Amino acid sequence: MDNNVMFKISYGLYVLTAKDDGKLNGCIVNTLQQVTTSPNRISITVNKDNFTHDMIVASGEFNVSILSEKVKFNTFKHFGFQSGRDVDKFADFPMEKSENDLPYITHGSNGFISGKVISKTDLGTHTMFIADVVDGKVFAEDNSVTYDYYHKNIKEAPNSKSKGWVCKICGYVYEGDDLPPDFICPLCKHGAADFEKL
Ligand code: FE
Repeated sequence: MDNNVMFKISYGLYVLTAKDDGKLNGCIVNTLQQVTTSPNRISITVNKDNFTHDMIVASGEFNVSILSEKVKFNTFKHFGFQSGRDVDKFADFPMEKSENDLPYITHGSNGFISGKVISKTDLGTHTMFIADVVDGKVFAEDNSVTYDYYHKNIKEAPNSKSKGWVCKICGYVYEGDDLPPDFICPLCKHGAADFEKL
């Protein structure tokens, strides 16, 4: 089995946002698909470690902001490298609200979709949510970003002075001599096997 073939799959990148108990949060995902057009339904698969995951389970609603090629690495750091359990990601990040009162981002994004969950499937580490599309809007004509474009043009090269382990998938740097064997990349959720020493 050539595991590199998995990197040949093309997919986009999104900020998945939710609201629960008055709290707003968001994370980065690459797992959005339209599954049927009539009715218009999407699937999104979310790691259970994400705070956003629990908020969607509780509230049954989410927004996805579709990231464009204009998105900055900072957006990935902001939504991917820290947890909503520790920080309020919307305290200082520009956002708008859709009719469902959930946030979406317009900086580095070309549109959003609102989903209402109709079913969920337990995939072990992740939950797959199937949702009705209940709203959506295009607000820029910029190309949607692909994972490949992110790798080649957005991801910051690791600082040559930094010591530690770099995620081969997304470029996240773990600082420290020893990477714990059960370490999970906070951005892309790949495991220690996908890290290499700097
Ligand atoms: Fe990663």
